[in-house]
Amino acid sequence: MRPALLLIDLQYDYLHQPGLDPPSHTLVRHVADLLGACRQGTIPVAYAITLVQPDGSNRMPHWRRRDYWACVEGTEGVKMPPDIAPQQGEEVFPKPFFSAFANVELLAQLKRWHVDTLILGGVHAHGCIRATVLDAYQAGFEVWVAEEAVGSYDPVHARISRDYLDGRACRWLSLAAIRARLGATKSTANGGGVSRACGPLPVSFIEGEWQAAMDHRLQPRHDPTDWPHCLAVVPTATEADVSAATSATARCQRDWARLPLDRRAAYLESWAAALQRRRDNAIALIVSDLGKPVVDAIAEFDYGLALLSATIRSTRGDASATPAAGIAVHHRPVGTVGIITPWNNPLALPVGKIAPALLWGNAVVWKPAMQAPRLTMLLIEALTEAGFPSGCVSMVFGDATTGQAMLGERAITALSFTGSIAAGRQVALGCARYGKALQAELGGNNAAVIGPDCDVVEAAGELAAAAFSFAGQRCTAPRRLIVHAAVEKRFLDALDEALDHLLVGMPREASTRIGPVVCRAARQRISHIVAEAEKQGITIHRGGEVPKGYEDGCWYAPTVLTGASQNAPVVQQESFGPVVVVQRYDEAGQAISMVNGVEQGLVATLYSHDPEMKRRFGDSVEAGILRINAGQQGIHPEAPFGGWKASGIGLPEHGPWDRTFYTRPQAIYGDNPV
Ligand code: NAD
Repeated sequence: MRPALLLIDLQYDYLHQPGLDPPSHTLVRHVADLLGACRQGTIPVAYAITLVQPDGSNRMPHWRRRDYWACVEGTEGVKMPPDIAPQQGEEVFPKPFFSAFANVELLAQLKRWHVDTLILGGVHAHGCIRATVLDAYQAGFEVWVAEEAVGSYDPVHARISRDYLDGRACRWLSLAAIRARLGATKSTANGGGVSRACGPLPVSFIEGEWQAAMDHRLQPRHDPTDWPHCLAVVPTATEADVSAATSATARCQRDWARLPLDRRAAYLESWAAALQRRRDNAIALIVSDLGKPVVDAIAEFDYGLALLSATIRSTRGDASATPAAGIAVHHRPVGTVGIITPWNNPLALPVGKIAPALLWGNAVVWKPAMQAPRLTMLLIEALTEAGFPSGCVSMVFGDATTGQAMLGERAITALSFTGSIAAGRQVALGCARYGKALQAELGGNNAAVIGPDCDVVEAAGELAAAAFSFAGQRCTAPRRLIVHAAVEKRFLDALDEALDHLLVGMPREASTRIGPVVCRAARQRISHIVAEAEKQGITIHRGGEVPKGYEDGCWYAPTVLTGASQNAPVVQQESFGPVVVVQRYDEAGQAISMVNGVEQGLVATLYSHDPEMKRRFGDSVEAGILRINAGQQGIHPEAPFGGWKASGIGLPEHGPWDRTFYTRPQAIYGDNPV
């Protein structure tokens, strides 16, 4: 076998397209993994890229008709992320149309290399990958498409393309399968190898049993404080695993729902006690798996337990108020609920969803993010110890492919999702397609207005801590600080002063306030955002670099940007890292337009005692959570938590809203059987 790797259209203009699945940082990571395995095996690498001439004369006809411009020669959009860019000796083939073979030089080169097997990665599965597979097949190559290393913004057509091509013109193979076929043994994603000491974790937890990984796709979890060190290897559950988990969970749900509410609440109390017994271990795992500073890990643990207690207390409400004589209302469980959670709050977020789902009589299939797998196992272990009937909670490890498989499961009738806007929209598409109820909490891009009359030093101190703790990786972190012109200089000085006192360091040190970001790809994404902002003329007031002495891990210095216009990408998009933008305003109406002038609407803060400003802020700001001279303290476990605009879909979480989402009211006229 003489293989070659062909990477297609991995250019920034395509990687930045909204809705790309997997998101660009994930895709780049997988491509880097594939590339590493090929380079290690001295397999030749070729790149096909779209290259539009500056006068647009070679644009595809449908781009010309729509006046669409992308990948123009000489622009940034035509370039590739450094991790996956061509190295010396690797060939780049510009192409005008969909298929890489539109450039005849490619076939000639593959023949010179005596290639018989072509491995493909890149974008888009429904477009250029599809066209290239068909041409490669016709040219006589054996074709392997690297499952995790191809992306698309069109999930429906990507799926159809895969179904059509796989087994016909190509094989769709996991990275692990490709590595096995190439005889490569070592993952080189992000420059780090997987230690052989790291055996894979189980792939799922079904009917009270851990299920061992077989030939599953594996993802290493590296230590964010020491990147080459592997903490765990996590298998990715397949569609078959998701089906097995869902059927088992659905079988258990009826018996679980028949238990009286107070019995179900008692199980939750036992879960809370089992978690309390694991408090130190849970906190240590949050710190080591994610690099979350220990002060923040403790706060997360306590908040998770507060959510659990609030859920137990919520049974006190009147569950079946009667609208009129002879009509009873029952709140029935929704059935089997899918829960998909992100990595940044690996304890509080799943607890805040699983507990109310169970309390109201549902069974749960949970897909956590893969970055804190050992903590996931601790949560399940505590649940087992609490004695819940076997099967009423299943867990499948996995990524977007596993999440998408959950959407196709008929027995899952409702889904609670927290994550990015792009992923949330894809989940919403799936829920609409399969008729599932959805509650989604999505990305925020939160603003704080600093009025001329406030205590500027106090505001700067609170905002610095809130924006940069856990390296800005909280959905509620303020990112846009909108300061009145009269106090801008004083505010910036106070912010600098506050930042000088926020210690960057190892997350397990109690004094550390700013630890590493979660992985190398995140650091690269954040540094790219800052570099792009600088190119657009935005000033890096401080930060914008890897702090000295912290190069081995994933740290990025707290960064303050100034001089950004409202439509700058760094203002419009959530950076999800230690980056804030300071903007200036002159009058109240302008500040409020700036707060509202982004697609997200999760949290908005006001520091001002001016009654008119407070009134206008309360009346006009579009966000699910307002803080008005309230500091930046934590989120109350019984207050509604829900983003407006692009930051949320459906009902908020917590308090009485949980019962509304996790139950269906049923009106019974006449004889009430209960
Ligand atoms: P993410 O969207 O990449 O992933 C979240 C979860 O969804 C993961 O379990 C992931 O595997 C899964 N997933 C991703 N794509 C999917 C798809 N197409 N179909 C089904 N499942 C899919 O987000 P992340 O990087 O884990 O977390 C960071 C994001 O989450 C940020 O945008 C942050 O603002 C947001 N977040 C929001 C809240 C909130 O309450 N509003 C809380 C925490 C985090």
